[in-house]
Amino acid sequence: MANKQKANRLKKWRFKLAAGVEVLCAICGEPISLGGTKGKGGLTVDHIIPKALGGTYAKDNLQPAHARCNHKRQTMLLSEFKKKTSQETILRRAIEILDKNAEAEGLPGDDTTLPDEPQTEA
Ligand SMILES: [Zn+2]
Repeated sequence: MANKQKANRLKKWRFKLAAGVEVLCAICGEPISLGGTKGKGGLTVDHIIPKALGGTYAKDNLQPAHARCNHKRQTMLLSEFKKKTSQETILRRAIEILDKNAEAEGLPGDDTTLPDEPQTEA
């Protein structure tokens, strides 16, 4: 039965966590805490090849992941997800730098309403 393999993996990782062995999230690489699957940082079973893309419950298609990471990845392959996340990170940093530069120059930030441009009559 498919879900039995999933349950076995979950049990094994929970056992490790309870024994104080570090289990790392296969998506973000950060340690997972034994907070139950409902907590966002909790342990979930992630399908390396998502079920939606034909991935199975075979032991070697299952990896530990935070609930939040698993949720964010949805049905993307890990490579696609990492590419998307790094693009988002780069964009976010670029925006932060632009905002900081604007602040440093005394320019209004994004949340400031600019006055209308003076109308010049032709
Ligand atoms: Zn994670």
